[in-house]
Amino acid sequence: MKRGVKEAILKALKDNKDWHPTARDIYKHLQERMPKLAFSSVYRALENLTRENKVRSFKLDCEGERRFEIKSKPHVHFKCTKCGRVYDIDMGINLAFKELVEMHTDHIITDVHITYYGICKECFRKKVKELVRDYNV
Ligand SMILES: [Zn+2]
Ligand SMILES: [Zn+2]
Repeated sequence: MKRGVKEAILKALKDNKDWHPTARDIYKHLQERMPKLAFSSVYRALENLTRENKVRSFKLDCEGERRFEIKSKPHVHFKCTKCGRVYDIDMGINLAFKELVEMHTDHIITDVHITYYGICKECFRKKVKELVRDYNV
């Protein structure tokens, strides 16, 4: 059963690459197909997958719950303050800046999380459409 939960989580994350669900989101998603599933099993499986480096977990500044994703390569996130969606920005992370910080502080940086906040293109498009519609009436 335990292995089944882990595999189901990995599959769900692989099938929805732009999804950054919390443990609760994953639980709700899997429950449709696995009605007997317990939240604690999902939580434990996520802990193990994170430890095994198969999934990456991160917390956005303003959120209490961790989100999970399948990608292990560090990348920038963008969170829309209007619809709440979290997007991946697949442009890599500027490693020159990381090295500069290490050089100046003598710290060793092992991980980095950068999140930009703003209005996503979908919400922006919607807003523009609304404005055009309102002015045409
Ligand atoms: Zn949005
Ligand atoms: Zn991501």
